Amino acid sequence: MSSVKMKLLNENLRITSFDEVALGYSKEEAIMEAKRCLNCKHKPCVSACPVGIDIPGFIKKIKEDDINGAYDIIVKDNLYPAICGRVCPQETQCESKCILRIKSDSCAIGNLERFVGDNHTYKELKKPCLNGKKVAVIGSGPAGLSFSAILANNGYKVVIYEAMHKTGGVLIYGIPQFRLPKSIVADEIARLEDINCEIITNCVIGKSIMLEELLEEYDYVFIGTGAGLPKFMNIKGESYNGVYSANEFLTRINLMNARLDSKTPLREIKNVAVIGGGNVAMDAIRSAKRLGAENTYLIYRRTINEMPARKAEIEHALEEGIEFLCLNNPISIEKDTFNNVKSLNLIKMELGDPDESGRRSPVEIKNSEYDLKVDTVIMALGNYPNPILKNSTKLINFSKWGTIEVDENNKTSHERIYAGGDIVTGAATVILAMGAGKKAAEDIIKRDKL
Ligand code: FAD
Ligand code: SF4
Repeated sequence: MSSVKMKLLNENLRITSFDEVALGYSKEEAIMEAKRCLNCKHKPCVSACPVGIDIPGFIKKIKEDDINGAYDIIVKDNLYPAICGRVCPQETQCESKCILRIKSDSCAIGNLERFVGDNHTYKELKKPCLNGKKVAVIGSGPAGLSFSAILANNGYKVVIYEAMHKTGGVLIYGIPQFRLPKSIVADEIARLEDINCEIITNCVIGKSIMLEELLEEYDYVFIGTGAGLPKFMNIKGESYNGVYSANEFLTRINLMNARLDSKTPLREIKNVAVIGGGNVAMDAIRSAKRLGAENTYLIYRRTINEMPARKAEIEHALEEGIEFLCLNNPISIEKDTFNNVKSLNLIKMELGDPDESGRRSPVEIKNSEYDLKVDTVIMALGNYPNPILKNSTKLINFSKWGTIEVDENNKTSHERIYAGGDIVTGAATVILAMGAGKKAAEDIIKRDKL
């Protein structure tokens, strides 16, 4: 039996709004899908989950129509199932090892996780008694949020310092509303505030307050500052009007309401090219489509088979009318007399021999250059770690790539400073960031009990 497919918003409606595309399971659908799970003895799905959720355990509870019971099992390892159920790449993690795949579709673990996150009825957390210890958290992305929730629940007074005016990190400023409704992230953050967690926004540690000052006031500091410094190609024309990094483009839309009446608008866009093939590129091009762009081109130098974006995002982008220009690479951006982007000069590529990673390298095809008429170019080539702390403290060790060096418990070279998420691993995933925050929090609790 194949898996129960999640209903999707109709393509024509999708491109006229930022409404969520995947509509979730009904209770009957969730139970039907849960019944496909074989409750395998060896649990291959669990070993492939980065945080080791007891997957057959929570699915069994869904079968029994005990949604709160399923939630209790998930939150032992992952505090935010409604978020992870939506954005985790399950197809390359737990679902890729599901035994059902041998004969049919794997069990739709992510869809079931999302169902539990959306439908449990524990809306309020019990306020724990304070234990007298104080921790500061730098950055309110998934790493900082998971760290904060565990320590706050264990009686620590937690204060989160966030550089932006809204909390949530990439969950708020990066991933668009049509994949992760902002209300879901906001609800989780509101629950944190209910349990002794204070949030200070518009505060850049390393500029407004120094890390050294935090150490004087707090018992521990956790750094979850992420990887938000965009990469560019270093080709001619990247400073022209109409060129954005994907982070800037998405932040203007998600955080500053550029799609509505905003003080931080976007220029009018008609013909848009996004360079890249990952989730960030898909988010940017699908957002451009929803802003009314007439032509939306995704430029990628390999083929669709090598694209790192999630399969579902690629499928949704194609359904929404995004034009994929695979085996194409930009050479330069051209401008009009007002410095506005007028076209993108591209060269065609072919796949050559495999590189060290085993992937076939793209090679330019001689004399195949051509111009593509565009007014907007968005670079979605990945991000470097945020550099502000590195440039402002000598308290902890950084690698040559700008990531923070930590031990197996996510402790830095300083006894009272921990770090986790993209600032440690480089750009990675939501669940890995959450897992790192959890590991650091658990180590602090263990140390304080000794
Ligand atoms: P972040 O989420 O980057 O949060 C860091 C926070 O720290 C930010 O709020 C930042 O403002 C703040 N900060 C930085 N410096 C300072 C400072 N000096 N002082 C105070 N605050 C500071 N992953 C998936 O698993 N699935 C997906 O579908 C997916 N899609 C993505 C789409 C986009 C557009 C992007 C950009 C990323 C996507 N990712 C996805 C990756 C994922 O979002 C990240 O791996 C994850 O958010 C990392 O979490 P983090 O807590 O380490 O950092
Ligand atoms: Fe269920 Fe698949 Fe995990 Fe087996 S591998 S327990 S069928 S989800």
